[in-house]
Amino acid sequence: MNVVTPAPQGTVGVLALQGAFHAHVSVLSELGARTREVRTPDDLAGVNALVMPGGESTTMGYLLGTAELYDPIQRRLDTGMPVFGTCAGMILLASKVLDGRVGQRGFGAIDIAVRRNGYGRQVDSFERDIEVVGLDDPYHAVFIRAPKVESVGADVTVLAMDDGVPVLARQGSVLVASFHPELTDDHRLHAMFLRIVHTATATAA
Ligand code: GLN
Repeated sequence: MNVVTPAPQGTVGVLALQGAFHAHVSVLSELGARTREVRTPDDLAGVNALVMPGGESTTMGYLLGTAELYDPIQRRLDTGMPVFGTCAGMILLASKVLDGRVGQRGFGAIDIAVRRNGYGRQVDSFERDIEVVGLDDPYHAVFIRAPKVESVGADVTVLAMDDGVPVLARQGSVLVASFHPELTDDHRLHAMFLRIVHTATATAA
């Protein structure tokens, strides 16, 4: 179920401090992208785009601090680096986090309010077929202790909803999903991100 995607110019980084980063690297590689695991500011300097994986946003936030990656990533986001945040990655990119840890810092890269673990304990994990704008067939989405989007700003395009709740959204070069697109063999959302990277890179060149 893959679509042919032009290989983007440059390298797609995957934040590799914690969480489900390995699967993202595999998917991007299968789609023909050059990838690099990002653990240091030097790694970040060598990439043109970044994936922020699922995992635990509070732990990732802590590790971003110790790795001294917060400010460099913020600067890159402020200057238009394309980014794809999934689950915990979406939390890190949101402008507002509800039920976050006290002092939990985020990048404010997309104008959404998300509630950590917002689907509650009784549905820690669930799977749904969702309709995605721009895809012909439904997409099978795997949610794991997912953040729940509670509001989106006017500049945000909602690309998919589940039960009336946005689960995939985009603002400029920022793409976020509250589920785990790296855990199935349907790579269409990574392909969508690579098209965003390709467009951004072509524009910047
Ligand atoms: N509940 C996690 C958090 O708050 C996110 C879960 C996930 O990434 N699968 O960061």
